[in-house]
Amino acid sequence: MSKSLRLILGDQLNHQHSWFQQVDPSIGYVLMEIRSETDYVTHHIQKVCAFFSAMRAFAEHLKDLGHIVHYFQLDQANNALSFKGNIQLLVKEFGYTQIAYQEPDEFRLDQELAKLGSELGLPTEMVSSEHFYSERNELAQFFKGKKTFLLENFYRAMRKKHNVLMQSNNEPVGDKWNFDADNRKPYDNKVPVPPIPNFAIDCTEIVQMLEKVGVKTMGSIPDNLLPHPITRAQSLKLLNLFVTEFLPWFGKYEDAMDTRFKQLFHSRLSFAMNVKLLSPQEVIEAVVRAYESQTIHIPLESVEGFIRQILGWREYMRGIYWAQMPDYANLNFLEHKRPLPSWFWTGETKMNCLKHSIGQSLDMAYAHHIQRLMIIGNFALLYGAHPDEVDAWYLGVYIDAIEWVEITNTRGMSQYADGGIVGSKPYVSSANYIQKMSNYCKGCHYNAKGKVGENACPFNSLYWHFYDRHQDKLAKNPRIGMAYVTFNKMNLTDKEAIMAQAEKYIAGVEGL
Ligand code: FAD
Ligand code: SF4
Repeated sequence: MSKSLRLILGDQLNHQHSWFQQVDPSIGYVLMEIRSETDYVTHHIQKVCAFFSAMRAFAEHLKDLGHIVHYFQLDQANNALSFKGNIQLLVKEFGYTQIAYQEPDEFRLDQELAKLGSELGLPTEMVSSEHFYSERNELAQFFKGKKTFLLENFYRAMRKKHNVLMQSNNEPVGDKWNFDADNRKPYDNKVPVPPIPNFAIDCTEIVQMLEKVGVKTMGSIPDNLLPHPITRAQSLKLLNLFVTEFLPWFGKYEDAMDTRFKQLFHSRLSFAMNVKLLSPQEVIEAVVRAYESQTIHIPLESVEGFIRQILGWREYMRGIYWAQMPDYANLNFLEHKRPLPSWFWTGETKMNCLKHSIGQSLDMAYAHHIQRLMIIGNFALLYGAHPDEVDAWYLGVYIDAIEWVEITNTRGMSQYADGGIVGSKPYVSSANYIQKMSNYCKGCHYNAKGKVGENACPFNSLYWHFYDRHQDKLAKNPRIGMAYVTFNKMNLTDKEAIMAQAEKYIAGVEGL
């Protein structure tokens, strides 16, 4: 009799997958906690706890449905600590004759699992993870022969193909594809920010296990309680809460930052989606339903802005990843080489914006998009950090960080190390933008207006230092032209003073 062993990876906790629709005694499922996954980068303690708690809960759910489930905990005596080793054990003990797995989202796992069948001498099948809107290679096909990969074009095509926020005449609802102009305002205290739901998952057992087996982690988990959702029921609760309490203001304040709030009206659904507890389809459907019913007033700009993140950016980043890997992981267009300052691991810097953004990342493994892009990433880019360093930090620190969506955002969108595949220009700014979009500058040691002098904000001189040192690569970019026009109008003495200030800050980065 043929017996099939189906491998479920830690980010494949998809309750709705067709695999689980029928209980079959000739099929077994395996989930495993292994060192290659805990050690490929130094992860935030909350990230490891979230993955292992979610995997354990998912295994229990499958058992409750009547499926045969094998689960290897990290400290279990018979855990061979590798996919191959553990599968070999199960094949020997239970007589499995074939193996199946869902398409991994990460290149390194794709490569590793593709070899499994031949290494084990067993027929092996890869099936769809049944999660994304688009196929792995759909973006590559869409842009075939094109020089640039414009998000906007892909996003519009996805809206049409999946009939999301479309009218019957194939035009977008509201007759506009993009409501950015109505969004992205600073927080003005006019709307109270609802409290962030805290799921307080007790992770004591996992924390103790990680200590026992010596897994190195970063960040902290106060009282061993994880604030993030780890089951489908909790994720659905968060989704409902987001739609009713946060979504109406999502668009308007999506780029705002405020020292009093770790998030404003963001959803915090990225972990639940990235481990597939929620599908992007059901998230978008919930949002569209709420918009159409208008039980509470939800402006179109919030709805479109949110859907753009998921149907646009999330699918786009995945497509870029599969179109560009493995070369993408080595791109360093700007040839940046510096290590990250040590305060990336403590948050102890006098720069208030970084203190808050890094501090909350270490406290809760979460920061919202603009904190990641325009505070932390902005500084790393202006300073000239090596993209490998930046990638490793981002991949470790965030609860939602899985390489396909981390590297494209970090190396691509944030560090411009891909030379413009993802973004048509580097996302850099001086203190001006940070002051406009946040209240960080108010209590800061540095002066947001100053370019030179004792307490001048480091972003201001580093900004011009960045443009100066990359003139050869950036000056011809039509989207950056204005920056160089301004730069070239500066008199030489001012320029030299700004450059000297930046050099001083770079040399003394540890003390900033
Ligand atoms: P919301 O603001 O509520 O947005 C809703 C959803 O849209 C998110 O949950 C996410 O699934 C999706 N989304 C939004 N922006 C993006 C984007 N640029 N790319 C892909 N999906 C997007 N996202 C990750 O999921 N994992 C990462 O490792 C990651 N690393 C990032 C690194 C950098 C440097 C930057 C600039 C962004 C990164 N992002 C990453 C994208 C984005 O910042 C997070 O998805 C978002 O902050 C998660 O919080 P949220 O669920 O509250 O998002
Ligand atoms: Fe950040 Fe400069 Fe503002 Fe301080 S003054 S918070 S360092 S941008």
